[in-house]
Amino acid sequence: MKFVDEYRDHDLARIIAGAIAAEAKSGRSYHFMEFCGGHTHAIFRYGVQDLMPQNVEFVHGPGCPVCVLPVARLDDAVELAERHGVILCTYGDMMRVPGTRQRSLIRAKADGADVRMVYSTLDALKIARENPGRQVVFFAIGFETSTPPTGVAIKLAAAEELSNFSVFCNHVLTPAAMGHILESPEVSGLVRIDGFLGPSHVSSVIGSRPYERFAEEFGKPVVIAGFEPLDVMQSVLMLVRQVNEGRHEVENEYTRVVTPEGNRKAQALVDEVFELRQSFEWRGLGTVPGSALRIRDAYAGFDAEKRFELSAKVSREVKSCECPSILRGVKKPTDCKLFGTVCTPQNPVGSCMVSSEGACAAYYSYSRFREPRPAGLEAVAG
Ligand code: SF4
Repeated sequence: MKFVDEYRDHDLARIIAGAIAAEAKSGRSYHFMEFCGGHTHAIFRYGVQDLMPQNVEFVHGPGCPVCVLPVARLDDAVELAERHGVILCTYGDMMRVPGTRQRSLIRAKADGADVRMVYSTLDALKIARENPGRQVVFFAIGFETSTPPTGVAIKLAAAEELSNFSVFCNHVLTPAAMGHILESPEVSGLVRIDGFLGPSHVSSVIGSRPYERFAEEFGKPVVIAGFEPLDVMQSVLMLVRQVNEGRHEVENEYTRVVTPEGNRKAQALVDEVFELRQSFEWRGLGTVPGSALRIRDAYAGFDAEKRFELSAKVSREVKSCECPSILRGVKKPTDCKLFGTVCTPQNPVGSCMVSSEGACAAYYSYSRFREPRPAGLEAVAG
């Protein structure tokens, strides 16, 4: 298949692996954060880490949209379904993420709440049209990639005057989270990051320009990387070269999709329907300024947070779940004592075990029987 098979070529993978091994200097280590869960999944699925020399390490970042949603917002969604009696529509993975006291949307559904899995925002609109006597809420989550379809649904609902449709908006922004990771002492003091593998789908919407700040202000190289294994490997090679040459630039490996300016039409649509929130809570990162979107006043009639009164509640993570530390890149899934025993994809205790993009699910699916790599060089800059 074009743009797939050639990016999984075994012989080419060996050539790139050889180049990385030859160019990575033996006297130092390289720590690259893959921000996006799609990259985490590709790294484990295709054994990319095993092709790296010992001194090249991946640090898993907070790029799985299901994983980073804080428990409090999930509890709000459960409340919408249970107390307000709406038809709550959401993508499949969100139904299985445990909230406070392990209460998930799928458990709420089992207890009688009307929670429905949809494949697109248009499915949710269809449900609203078919149920004029019921309130239908779309539980919207995700990064810049999934925001435009939510905007389309809101605009269509407005055009059709669909008064029983609204959106519980939880869309978050990648560059703000990357900036927070670099600025936050709890993360930057504990995790060494020599460069970033920049997200692919997100960058197809926002372009490569928003990352220039990380190269210029923080001196961190960024390479926008595609999702196939050779994309990831080629991007690592580009990062190793930048580090060796003392450069910190934004480079684009994923040129077949990503441009510097991104998708202007999608950006204009998002700008018309949404505005920046002052701050938003991320699982693992805490409160991050300017890191999420809310629905603009012009479309306030379709904002579930304005239509329904959500109660103040005390939300709690499972204490022994290490998701917050894993999402900060501070710990690995195997550092969690529940990994693979109490917590499995069939019975997830934390969000990182639910989605295939979550680090725990990726480790569990592809890496749990592998021998650990021998200890590499220093993980934290000395
Ligand atoms: Fe949380 Fe489960 Fe991952 Fe442990 S293994 S950090 S409990 S999701």
